[in-house]
Amino acid sequence: MRLDDQPHLCVSSSRREFLGAAALALTGICGSRLSAAQIPTAPVKRPPNPYVYKFNIGGIEAFSISDGHMLFKKGLDLMWPEADRPQMKAALEFNRERLDALPLYVNIMGLKIGDEVALIDAGFGEQNPNPDFGWLAEGLRQLGIKPEQVTTGFLSHAHSDHLDGFVDKGKPAFAKAQIYLLQEEYDFWREPSPDFSKSKRDKKPLSFMINTVRDNFEILKDQLVIAEDGQTCFHGAVTILAAPGHTDGHACFEIRSGSESLIHLSDVVHHHVLMFENADWTVAMDHDPETAVKTRQKLFKEMANEKTRAFGFHLPWPGLGTVVPKGDQYAWVPERFSWGS
Ligand SMILES: [Zn+2]
Repeated sequence: MRLDDQPHLCVSSSRREFLGAAALALTGICGSRLSAAQIPTAPVKRPPNPYVYKFNIGGIEAFSISDGHMLFKKGLDLMWPEADRPQMKAALEFNRERLDALPLYVNIMGLKIGDEVALIDAGFGEQNPNPDFGWLAEGLRQLGIKPEQVTTGFLSHAHSDHLDGFVDKGKPAFAKAQIYLLQEEYDFWREPSPDFSKSKRDKKPLSFMINTVRDNFEILKDQLVIAEDGQTCFHGAVTILAAPGHTDGHACFEIRSGSESLIHLSDVVHHHVLMFENADWTVAMDHDPETAVKTRQKLFKEMANEKTRAFGFHLPWPGLGTVVPKGDQYAWVPERFSWGS
């Protein structure tokens, strides 16, 4: 239901290596909008964003827009269980991956039906002073998509790399969009003391992160729509799927058109080797690692069996690929680039 209490159903019933403000952004990731005092007075200069990839899901025009990238310089210290880090290191070495840091891609999926556009999450926001991310708005401009064309937003969860781009300079960035999220996600951040007791994440930035999520929810309050697990939105093309663990109300999305479909994995996976090599391995930012593992194991098993096309928000851009079986675990096979023919 809408937060202004009107029932609303859309279709069916259902680190520290960075300096200054950039470090602030990192503390909140996977949480937070900058306070007014921290917003730079001069606009952040960003070059044209070349990382806009067009593809189709059935009859739907779809886009993968890079919102940028970051490196977790804590590397494997962010991964759990600690006892498995030697195996994790071996998996990275086998795949010729760097060991000094874990890369994190931020891929925003856009869907266009007629003149209407839906965005699944919105990245860090253009106001973020770190030039390495906040590229979504520039990507949309290159596609000729005006903010008012964005009629639907989906919020997988409220961490900064997903939520902050729905806000621009203290106001809604896409004023005409209804933004769907699950009840559990909305409720978690509004608890008097949100429970992070199961999470391995750094607890120091939590109060800042919680407060900025609440600030963003307040800015977006007329746009947020509480959705149900299994609810279908955006002309029947997008089904919201509860996928708890990374956060309480974390959601994935199924996009379907005709005989084609795709699962948007949101933050079920943060690395293209590690979480596939062993789906029990977790990242410190998970709120409830045990539940996150159950969700990932279930989804991967189903997707590998059904050869489901997938999209990874945090996998190497543009993020399209397939989860395939590998022994009793999995591997990520990226989809080759297609230049439209
Ligand atoms: Zn994330």
